[in-house]
Amino acid sequence: MPQVQRSSDLVEMHSEKAISFGLGGIVCLVISGLLFAYRGSTELFVPLSIVLAIIAASTICYAIYCLAQVRKVTSVAVTCPYCKATNKLLETPSGDFTCIDCHRLIPVIDGQTLPVNQVRCGFCNELNYYSEKTDVLLCEYCNHEIPIAHEDGFISRKKIASGFSIQDDDRMYELVLLAHGHKTEELVDCLQHMLALNRNQVKQMLGELPVTLLTGIPKRKAEMLKAQLVTHEAAADYRPLAS
Ligand SMILES: [Zn+2]
Ligand SMILES: [Zn+2]
Repeated sequence: MPQVQRSSDLVEMHSEKAISFGLGGIVCLVISGLLFAYRGSTELFVPLSIVLAIIAASTICYAIYCLAQVRKVTSVAVTCPYCKATNKLLETPSGDFTCIDCHRLIPVIDGQTLPVNQVRCGFCNELNYYSEKTDVLLCEYCNHEIPIAHEDGFISRKKIASGFSIQDDDRMYELVLLAHGHKTEELVDCLQHMLALNRNQVKQMLGELPVTLLTGIPKRKAEMLKAQLVTHEAAADYRPLAS
């Protein structure tokens, strides 16, 4: 997944440079001035004083250049569809990125952020969000899966809790993440998508393996998700739930 560059990061970088070079230049200038003032009759320090003055002048020029760069930073404001915070990016995002404020993954297709839908968790009644890209929605607060309907008519979970579930294959499966490999960042991205969790929640989950990712999903879904995880060097397995 391409990482977005935030304008604020770039501004910070240029400003830090401007400040450190600016201060360095001023210190050089002061020392140079002192050496010149106390050069004495032999004028031994004069060449050193001149060298320092040249260094001071160039570092201060560089600091000014850095300041000019700060002004040049362009920014594209992207409003987070979840919390409405403004994310200032250098350019139009080419892929999903994390909101600076709520740390949720903002879904992006063709440079456009996708609208998110709100849904209340059937277990704890907290508000949750999903987009077209969400495969499976887990409640941000209680981790229960929330059934969401996609456009193709596929419903990610039959409504077990509501008790009107009828399915051809009535065996439900659970998907367990057993271990992760070296591609942790990729896996975190993948799990963020899969579970609609924020980055911290996923990272915390990875620290507590093995972990049940989803329960009550059809076998077809479990197979598909396992295959996705395996491509990111993770070990996952699915097994039927005891009925
Ligand atoms: Zn946000
Ligand atoms: Zn909940």
